[in-house]
Amino acid sequence: MSATESEGSTRRLNFIEQEIEKDLQGRFAGRKLKTRFPPEPNGYLHIGHAKSICLNFGLAKKYGGTCNLRFDDTNPSKEEQEYVDAIQDDVRWLGFQWDELHYASDYFEQLYAWAIELIRKGLAYVCDLTPEQIREYRGTLTSPGKNSPYRDRPVEENLDLFARMRAGEFPDGSRTLRAKIDMASPNLNLRDPVMYRVLHASHHRTGDTWCIYPMYDWAHGQSDSIEGITHSICTLEFEDHRPLYDWFCEALGIFHPRQIEFARLNLTYTVMSKRKLLQLVKEGHVAGWDDPRMPTIRGLRRRGYTPESIRDFCERIGVAKFNSTIDVGVLENSVRDHLNQTAQRAMVVMNPIKLVLTNYPTDQVEMVEAVNNPEDPAAGTRQVPFSRELLIERDDFMEDAPRKFFRLKPGGEVRLRYAYIIRCEEVIKDPATGQVIELRCTYDPATRSGSGTAQRKVKGIIHWVSAAHAVDVPVRLYDRLFQCENPDQAPPGGTFLDNLNPDSLQEVVAKAEPALAESQPGQRFQFERTGYFVADEVDSQPGRPVFNRTVALRDSWAKLQAKGKVN
Ligand code: ATP
Ligand code: MG
Repeated sequence: MSATESEGSTRRLNFIEQEIEKDLQGRFAGRKLKTRFPPEPNGYLHIGHAKSICLNFGLAKKYGGTCNLRFDDTNPSKEEQEYVDAIQDDVRWLGFQWDELHYASDYFEQLYAWAIELIRKGLAYVCDLTPEQIREYRGTLTSPGKNSPYRDRPVEENLDLFARMRAGEFPDGSRTLRAKIDMASPNLNLRDPVMYRVLHASHHRTGDTWCIYPMYDWAHGQSDSIEGITHSICTLEFEDHRPLYDWFCEALGIFHPRQIEFARLNLTYTVMSKRKLLQLVKEGHVAGWDDPRMPTIRGLRRRGYTPESIRDFCERIGVAKFNSTIDVGVLENSVRDHLNQTAQRAMVVMNPIKLVLTNYPTDQVEMVEAVNNPEDPAAGTRQVPFSRELLIERDDFMEDAPRKFFRLKPGGEVRLRYAYIIRCEEVIKDPATGQVIELRCTYDPATRSGSGTAQRKVKGIIHWVSAAHAVDVPVRLYDRLFQCENPDQAPPGGTFLDNLNPDSLQEVVAKAEPALAESQPGQRFQFERTGYFVADEVDSQPGRPVFNRTVALRDSWAKLQAKGKVN
């Protein structure tokens, strides 16, 4: 399926769209669809977040509604401004613009007032149990919980203690405010959940104003309600929290958004939890959050992924009600498809061997015309210098070649892309090592590409660069960061780090056609017959680009897998 086919398609409505269409006629009749993307600013966004972003912003666009960006910053100790800035940048880079920008911390005062309202209604109480005791009293899935001895505190005492919690009179962990629901509920989330904890910590926005902080369940739905969000779309682990989401809105009698859950994205060969990604960065297994091997938006961007390819990927995989794992090859195919349409071609030799055309005039240089993108005639052509001494890929020559080897072999013919058919006449070896160091060939002047004369055909076409004109370009050949399909599954006695692929980065200095020296940081190419590459946005210098491999031209892992060489 191509990007255009999937984007403008008349595919069947997914389950979320079906529910939204019903609600816009029913419980939200007369309202516009309003969604939000609610990241916690405690790390960089990853491809899983991209799925949530595409879904929330995509639905708003489809139904003529709006989508907010809201920082879910209720957990002061792990949150930082650096992440807030990076998240905004990444959402924009993906191609989306939020309607309103909010912070859950902007609602702290309102949440506090609502908590007092629940205390007054007899629906919340201050509890002096320690966190361990709270856990103990909660019971299990098979046994009911026990009421806290503080559950029936008089309203006045609760109001007084809650005010003093806010005033900073009590140490961390000493008291909580809890909703009074049902300690025997089969749903553990309804067994008097904690709404506030005492935490003397500085917050990235509110500073030291607060020493009590709301829990996720108490802040999230109320924030949605304040903003008039109609559909609060979240991942499946919150399904069991929905009754609590609904209870709080009902208890307060405020606008009641609808929570809908979908399956989170998991990818093969990838870890997605922020905690693990942070560990990779902190322990130096990768160069940073934007390391091109990271599944972060930053990493994918530096790797050469386009926003279009990521959006296309999210559209291709759709939304599901059950968790599953998507083959990372689907993501790689999305970027291949987009870059095939858009990336400028270039000839680059990764591992060169010298090739001399013995019948080509010594000082002659001619320019041959190369096609910039066969998928896009408007991309035009460029001139590439051709001369007597060339470099080709060492792999494109084989001395004892099997019959089906259609590249260069002793006595064999091959076409040099955009140039001539050549024949390999002599193989020169280093007498000391026996290694092939030079191929002496002849060219057939009548076979120049595009010359219009009746052409002989040969099976193989290889790329090349002119030795005297080639420029050295550092190239980073990135591969998958993990070597097994499910890296979260640690080997016995080990951790997910034991699954790291030791060969995920290989650095070479390649020989490129001269125009490549002028590439702009972020410019993307197809190196013919090799793969897709991007001029690194961080390490490239004017006139000295450094290239990152986005993805090989074909999926070499699928091939290895078929042969049983990797699992
Ligand atoms: P992680 O588990 O990686 O730390 P998180 O869920 O804690 O992620 P948040 O910042 O809370 O990260 O997520 C913001 C939004 O992105 C939430 O609505 C969350 O459901 C969604 N999201 C996070 N990870 C995924 C994923 N893998 N697939 C789909 N949506 C995701
Ligand atoms: Mg979270």
